[in-house]
Amino acid sequence: MYAKSFISRNAHGHLISALTAQKSPNGEYTCHLCRSVLVFHRSRARSRPWFEHSDTDLSEHARQHCPYVNVDDVEGATVTALRTFIPKALPLVQKADWHCRCCGNAYYGEKYCLTCQRGADSQVSAK
Ligand SMILES: [Zn+2]
Ligand SMILES: [Zn+2]
Repeated sequence: MYAKSFISRNAHGHLISALTAQKSPNGEYTCHLCRSVLVFHRSRARSRPWFEHSDTDLSEHARQHCPYVNVDDVEGATVTALRTFIPKALPLVQKADWHCRCCGNAYYGEKYCLTCQRGADSQVSAK
């Protein structure tokens, strides 16, 4: 189960939102964190457009470190429970203020330090 992503990089390396991607069909998109190729899902009746990681184009790095691939256990359990009511529910990646113990980087967003290219050493920073 991969988390929904609402942002990606397009073929030119620019960050774009899923809403922008919706306006330009047939683009190629990659994860802004792990650079895996993403599948774009156009919006339907009640859902926003979104990007998803795919089994076929996942690098070893993504499998180990991308927060969209390695869904948080708690979030995964919540979504599994939610599927009783919403069969196609997918997890979301929580954003927060993080502090990376490895390089000392403080950042906001997904649990993924861009300097170390992993999130395992990051903790929610105390306010
Ligand atoms: Zn990724
Ligand atoms: Zn770091």
